[in-house]
Amino acid sequence: MNYSCPKCNSENTQRLDIAYKSGVSNVSGTTNNIGVGMSSSGLGIGVSEGNFSGTQESLFSNSIKPPEKKSAGCITGIGVFILIPFIIVFLGMGVGGNFEQFMFSLTGVLIGIGIIWIDRLQRNRFNRDEYEPKYRAYQKKFICHRCGNIFQP
Ligand SMILES: [Zn+2]
Repeated sequence: MNYSCPKCNSENTQRLDIAYKSGVSNVSGTTNNIGVGMSSSGLGIGVSEGNFSGTQESLFSNSIKPPEKKSAGCITGIGVFILIPFIIVFLGMGVGGNFEQFMFSLTGVLIGIGIIWIDRLQRNRFNRDEYEPKYRAYQKKFICHRCGNIFQP
């Protein structure tokens, strides 16, 4: 069942994530598949939407994009960048290296791992504390296909 729009009272509404997914699939080619989630009362809109170009469809999708999860970014890259040469030094040293060389490369390896680890912890915290509540709220939202209003019933 769809909720009617609090702004214009239209029943031509759709869950935001579903509308977004339909919009994305429209962009990727199927030009006839435009009347996303049209209800029977939305017949007139279905006709006008026939004029939507691919660009408008993608703009429509962009404005209702779901929140994004944080993925491994440049900080992890820096960590790897530090880690790898030190691992090479560490492995290349073998048994012959002296204590200073050993400590030097070990420190580098630990710093590299530490950076990657801290980035991972922060990313996990972001995804748990910020992304997930946002995504849950996002999933509760509806969009009105008549006036574009985004609302939570
Ligand atoms: Zn509306």
